[in-house]
Amino acid sequence: MPEHSLIQTRYDALRERLASACATAGRDPGEVALLAVSKTRGADEVAALHALGQRAFGENYVDEACAKQAALAALEPAPAWHFIGPIQSNKTRRIAERFDWVHSIDRAKIARRLADQRPSERGPLNVLIQVNVDAEAQKAGCRPDELDALADRVAGHDALVLRGLMAIPAPRDDAEAMRPAFACLRECFEALARHHPRLDTLSMGMSDDLEAAIAEGATLVRVGTALFGPRPPRPAADGAVESTS
Ligand SMILES: *Cc1c(COP(=O)(O)O)cnc(C)c1O
Repeated sequence: MPEHSLIQTRYDALRERLASACATAGRDPGEVALLAVSKTRGADEVAALHALGQRAFGENYVDEACAKQAALAALEPAPAWHFIGPIQSNKTRRIAERFDWVHSIDRAKIARRLADQRPSERGPLNVLIQVNVDAEAQKAGCRPDELDALADRVAGHDALVLRGLMAIPAPRDDAEAMRPAFACLRECFEALARHHPRLDTLSMGMSDDLEAAIAEGATLVRVGTALFGPRPPRPAADGAVESTS
């Protein structure tokens, strides 16, 4: 199908971009994982990328993600599903049941609910704390000065494994201008890692700024547009599952 070969072209181009960003930063490309952000994209597009070897997918809307996971239940090997969107309390059960990773923990109550609702047969849920590195520009994420306390609460749950930090800094005109925000997250990560030995994941960088994030130490970049093309309009509310095929 022609769509699929377009995905292949984008996937190959993105992997070259990642390799060249790693080379510029003097880093081993094996240190930087690619999360394909498939929000608003159809199950067919996820399946096409999976067929090319991509194994980790990021979703923002619970209802949409669950419908897609059901449609893709037969994929082998099973993809790893990462929840990267804002978390409402009433959605935690399905996140705990259906996802392998959560990037967007920003308060203790959400961590507790995810821990309580994680089915034991699925093993502990890998979690990242989202940090608001631009305190004035946006609301999602905990403040850097709240991080130590929240990390202790998260790490106190046996059903969760605290793997690292995530941020979505406010966009700036020039990707280079993003570097201080990424550096801020890396500094938070390094400080926290002294007390939390399982920390190995620094989730930062998207289609427009992944080079700057890799230069500042990202170990996972979350990429949507550069893989799938411009996003179709978002569902009006989580609950409206849209088919994009
Ligand atoms: C949508 C989204 C992305 C991907 O953004 P692109 O600019 O399309 O690469 C990454 N992270 C989060 C949290 C997102 O919501």
